[in-house]
Formats: sequence, C-alpha cells, structure tokens
Amino acid sequence: MPGCAKNSPLGKTQPETAWLKEIHSQVLQQSLKDLERAYKKLFSISVPTFHGSRKKAWATASAIPQGCKLDQSNSRVFLPKLGWLKYRNSRDVLGTVSNITVSANGGKWFVSIQTEREVEQPVHPATSIVGIDVGITRFATLSDGSHIEPLNTFRKHQQRLARYQRAMSRKTKFSSNWKKAKARVQKIHTRIANVRKDFLHKTTTTISKNHAIVCIEDLQVRNMSKSAAGSSDSPGRNVKAKSGLNKSILDQGWFEFRRQLEYKQVWLGGDVLAVPARNTSRTCPACGHVSADNRQTQAKFACVDCGYENNADVVGAINVLERGHRLLACGELAQSGRSVKQEPAEATTQGLALV
Ligand SMILES: [Zn+2]
Repeated sequence: MPGCAKNSPLGKTQPETAWLKEIHSQVLQQSLKDLERAYKKLFSISVPTFHGSRKKAWATASAIPQGCKLDQSNSRVFLPKLGWLKYRNSRDVLGTVSNITVSANGGKWFVSIQTEREVEQPVHPATSIVGIDVGITRFATLSDGSHIEPLNTFRKHQQRLARYQRAMSRKTKFSSNWKKAKARVQKIHTRIANVRKDFLHKTTTTISKNHAIVCIEDLQVRNMSKSAAGSSDSPGRNVKAKSGLNKSILDQGWFEFRRQLEYKQVWLGGDVLAVPARNTSRTCPACGHVSADNRQTQAKFACVDCGYENNADVVGAINVLERGHRLLACGELAQSGRSVKQEPAEATTQGLALV
C-alpha cells in the first residue's frame, strides 16, 4: 500500500472512524508506515487482518517521534493527547530522547525510550577467547569445559497451557468466559516469555563479561526451526523427531542468545565471531580426523584414529574455538561475513513499565 500514509487525515472525517481524532496524528502515520512495511514483508505469505477498534491502534507498538517529554526525577513521561503518565523507574535513561514507543504486553503497558549519546570506545575487561557449542541436552557448552543447563520453560508449562487452551476452545467466542479463558492463556505465554528472557539475559551477560571474544557456530537457526511437516507433494521426513527439535530450538531461543551476545559484546568492547559450523561435532581436536564414527553417542566423542576421548559437546566447543583462532590468525573473516571490529552503539533503547 505505497502512499497510504498520506491518506491518514481523510479517515478522521468519516463517522465510523471518528475515534481516530483522539489519537495523535504521528501515531497514525507511524502505524500506517508500520502497516505498509508489514504488507511489503508479508505480501507473498499472507495478508494481515485488520481490527478496526481503537484499542488495537494503541495495542500494537506505536512509535511517537515528536512531542514526547521525559521527566525522570518525577518518574513520568508526557505523551501527546494522553498527557503525563507515571512509569516504574527501573533504571536511568541516559542521553537525549529521540523516540518513544508505546506497547502493550500481557495486560501491561510499556514505554520504550530510544536515546542518543556519545560513547567512548570501550576496552573489554577480560582478555580471554572462548568457543561455545549450543545443544539440546545442554543449552551451551563452553570450550573451558563449563556448561549451562537448558531451561525448558515451554515444556514445563505446556500441559497447563494445553489445558487452558482446551478450556478456551469450549467457550463461546467473544463471550465473557471466553475472554477470561483467553486472558489466562495469554498470561502463561507472557510468563514463559519473561522466564526465558531472564534466563537468556543472565546467561549472555555472564559469558560476555568473562570473555573478550566469543566464538559461536554460524547456525541458521531460522532454517533449522522451519516447519518439518513438508508439503503434500513432498512430505517431510522424520517429522516427529524434527518437530521435537524445532520446539527445543525455539524454546531455547538460540537466535535471541546470539543477538544478545553480539550487542553486549559491542557494549563492552569485545566481539562475537561466527565460525563455519560444518563438522564441528565430527572433527577430532587432537589429530584433526573427521568422521561420523568419532561421535559414538549423543554425549560421547571418541576418535577412531588417535583414541582421543571427551564429552561430545566440549569437543564441539573446542572446535568452534579453534576455528575462531584460525579466523583471527589467517584473516578468513570474509568467509564468516562479519568483521572483527564493530562501531560502538550510539543509540540505545530502554524499556520501562507504565504504572
Ligand atoms: Zn584423533
């Protein structure tokens, strides 16, 4: 829908959309821009459904570029047409405010404040380099031998979620009991997301504080977690096993793990190196022999050539580290598609809860 942003004032004059007047024009324009972007992105997949209620206009994240004021000492934020709103002051906002986004999640309202400030090139406090292997049985194994247990939040809450979803499906749609059931389902979803977010933040903060350079496998997580079912012409193989793996991958949030590691390393002055993932689980770190037979079980690595033995995940992490060293030494960075040095972040976004 190119050009539709220009039409936004027209909607305000029609009686059925008169409520639009009560919403700040910039929000509408931003929403239309977002919608346009969504159309462009989803054009080949599906058409987004349109909910014409006033709630929805605010419920999706709305960025307000101008007219916002932040009063940190009184924990309040000024939004056009809404006035001053109190927020929970969880942390200081640094720099000059450039943009405020309002969003709703799980019945709570949030403002996300984007600021700009000069940042000095930081020097990472640690000097070590580490390799990480991510997996199902262990969330992450480090080349120093330590590991992080998985957090299967979704599995833990799955039964309760399924029960509430069944209860919701038995209710008459849009009835008050249906709405109550829906709120319960959403609450569990929010809870799962919060526990996972907390776990990932703690994990990535610890890793990036302790190591100046973190080497990870360049896994195409999005491809791996693609639907395993296949099509009617070419039904997927191993559907059950793959869908189990998919659930685990999504549950673990590896993509988010990598994203957090990358920006936290930039903040601290360190770096993340993505190395080619091929054969990291099959290569012997001692003699370099590559064979599927080296991996005797899911957990055990034993080289058929030289007899080297270790935990299979630790072997993976050692190989990832070794490839990271090679990338740094030989300048094979073109292959990894990433550069060693990155510019420090100048724009930061902080989320605060409205009260
Ligand atoms: Zn060997």
